[in-house]
Amino acid sequence: MKVYINKPLCTGCQHCKDVCPVAVFELRDREDVANINVDGAPVEMEWKNNPDSDMVAKWKDVQDGHNHFAEKNDETSGGISVGVNGEACILCQACLIQCEGECIHIIDDTETEYKSIYS
Ligand code: SF4
Ligand code: SF4
Repeated sequence: MKVYINKPLCTGCQHCKDVCPVAVFELRDREDVANINVDGAPVEMEWKNNPDSDMVAKWKDVQDGHNHFAEKNDETSGGISVGVNGEACILCQACLIQCEGECIHIIDDTETEYKSIYS
């Protein structure tokens, strides 16, 4: 599988990393641009210090124990998710239903695309 994130939409909630059974995701600090844009996301989904304003308005002040849109990851949340190990994905879809930003894209060998829908 290819697994990549639409970065401007990512809240940094870390749900993807927490639920993935095969360690596909890493959360990286938002200033670390060179190491964020490495999962093959299309250019319009790359991180350019460009958080989506609607997503920021929706999640920034939500108090649920996660630091939404925090610059740095503190091992519980913050930063931006990167699909660093897409080859390991078994398409269990756990991340797809847990992604606040609805920003995870998974492409299988037949080029079928799966996208996250927050539930
Ligand atoms: S669908 Fe793939 S990337 Fe998502 S949680 Fe399952 S194994 Fe991990
Ligand atoms: S679950 Fe979605 S919004 Fe949350 S850190 Fe992962 S990719 Fe970003």
